[in-house]
Amino acid sequence: MIIAVDGPAASGKGTLARRLAAHFKIDHLDTGSLYRCVALGVLRAGRDPNNESDAITAAHDVRSLDLSDPDLRDEKVGNAASTVAQFPAVRQILLDYQRQVAAAGAVLDGRDIGTVVCPDADHKFYVTASLEIRAERRIAELLDRGVAVSPDEIREEMAVRDRLDRERATSPLILASDAHLLDTTNLDIDSAFSYALTLIEQN
Ligand code: C5P
Repeated sequence: MIIAVDGPAASGKGTLARRLAAHFKIDHLDTGSLYRCVALGVLRAGRDPNNESDAITAAHDVRSLDLSDPDLRDEKVGNAASTVAQFPAVRQILLDYQRQVAAAGAVLDGRDIGTVVCPDADHKFYVTASLEIRAERRIAELLDRGVAVSPDEIREEMAVRDRLDRERATSPLILASDAHLLDTTNLDIDSAFSYALTLIEQN
């Protein structure tokens, strides 16, 4: 079984994807981590995420990187991930790996899973929430990790990243016509999970 979970940052898609994978005892791939690895590779090499050939070089090395590196969670890395994710060649390099993971049966979360990576997924969800709520969640998460934040800056960076992800030419973040829309603005994770499970069981 392949489950595609797409949506913007801090929408709850990662938590939902993890819960679904645990429930069905299948793998979970957070595809955002792959783009973050490319971005971190570029930044650590002292290169520029806006430079396509630097991003391509880092994308070729992505498998040698650690998907659980805590530095991947930095806001700076998330923003650079959005920049490198605009390059079609970078996306192409990461595509094979994502499809290999999916082929064994998995839940993948990201921006283009239901539209590009796994258009034939058995179940598709598009998880979203208002910018205000998503920014609040991200701020709470950063404070929890002891990271000092400027709420206005976080909200603004999130809005910029949303725009980049939605407006880019290749694989933009869009609602697939056959995806279930799940708005978590007023929904906690347990309710979102139960609702998703009900929809899966009905199909
Ligand atoms: O999900 P996360 O916030 O970790 O993703 C970081 C960035 O990676 C996103 O803002 C997006 O630009 C990019 N991404 C993507 N396609 C995916 C997953 C992530 O373009 N499938």
